[in-house]
Amino acid sequence: MTSTVGQVIRCRAAVAWEAGKPLVMEEVEVAPPQANEVRVKILFTSLCHTDVYFWEAKGQNPLFPRIYGHEAGGIVESVGEGVTDLKPGDHVLPVFTGECKECAHCKSEESNMCDLLRINTDRGVMLNDGKSRFSINGKPIYHFVGTSTFSEYTVIHVGCLAKINPLAPLDKVCVLSCGISTGLGATLNVAKPAKGSTVAVFGLGAVGLAAAEGARIAGASRIIGVDLNSNRFEEAKKFGATEFVNPKDYNKPVQEVIAEMTNGGVDRSVECTGNIDAMISAFECVHDGWGVAVLVGVPHKDAVFKTHPMNLLNERTLKGTFFGNYKPRSDLPSVVEKYMSKELEVEKFITHTVPFSEINKAFEYMLRGEGLRCIIRMEE
Ligand code: NAD
Ligand code: ZN
Repeated sequence: MTSTVGQVIRCRAAVAWEAGKPLVMEEVEVAPPQANEVRVKILFTSLCHTDVYFWEAKGQNPLFPRIYGHEAGGIVESVGEGVTDLKPGDHVLPVFTGECKECAHCKSEESNMCDLLRINTDRGVMLNDGKSRFSINGKPIYHFVGTSTFSEYTVIHVGCLAKINPLAPLDKVCVLSCGISTGLGATLNVAKPAKGSTVAVFGLGAVGLAAAEGARIAGASRIIGVDLNSNRFEEAKKFGATEFVNPKDYNKPVQEVIAEMTNGGVDRSVECTGNIDAMISAFECVHDGWGVAVLVGVPHKDAVFKTHPMNLLNERTLKGTFFGNYKPRSDLPSVVEKYMSKELEVEKFITHTVPFSEINKAFEYMLRGEGLRCIIRMEE
């Protein structure tokens, strides 16, 4: 391993040359890490909606050629100048948003929205010199959200890497580096349901199911899953959902249906759809006096949240969260420990596995809405 330190590494990467076109397996050159950077050997990566969304590039600034991927697990190969927290051989989870530990957000106990390393989907280069560490015959290939894990080796800012327990199986805990922690944290860190309380979860994709898992861990007595797709309910039972509501089955607003089911409203709701109507329903279905609604879904850019102010005056609380309020470096290791102590189950999120050479299959599963998470094994 030490023989590659300071050298350019040639390895395989799945390169997106054009929007919406299958990724192409290429040999890329990966430059050594610069100051505050770390070069990581990726062992497992998984596909998340955000990768697909930016690969399709409908509505955002297209940036190609690019190496996508941000949910992953790997091992540190070498570190750049000034990196003292990590050393070769450490096991890490890359995170699309970072923690510099020095800005006002990082110093605040309440925020995880680091000024320096907050997610930036438009940037395709490293902060240090504004250049890419990937190239093919000298032509630069852009990074994605500072992680670019669809490559056997990648270079990441030290602030976007969580050092985890080396005994944790990377083929499982890699899914904790994005969507699962987002949903779990939205419930455990933000909604904070008390034991025995009622929780509604809007949207039963991977993020919503993780939010339901959080409610199960918190000991909620009723977990009401809400989705327009009734096929999601069977799966949701495995994540603790006890009841199911499909808004399409009723001719009144779903918030009224839920209020009737729960004697005035749920104690907590977590919205994981990205749909503005679901966000409003999720807020209006919480009980007056104490109900708390948490928004997680990323809405359409022109969406506007409308509700009567009386709904707030009647002592309902509306909150929003980014990455489940977890600080990547400080908090993610403890989420991994929740898995190690069997409090949190991650296997049930993993529905497919493919070798790296078949990464395009993972895209097909997601585009067909099949399964939850597909693990991509870098070593065939
Ligand atoms: P997904 O597409 O797998 O699941 C969304 C589910 O919502 C689907 O089952 C869909 O049928 C359902 N749905 C859509 N509109 C609905 C409506 N009006 N009422 C009820 N159900 C409805 O998505 P996912 O990967 O689970 O992600 C969920 C959301 O979380 C997305 O918007 C994603 O962008 C967002 N997200 C946010 C963060 C964050 O930090 N805040 C991080 C990751 C993902
Ligand atoms: Zn910071």
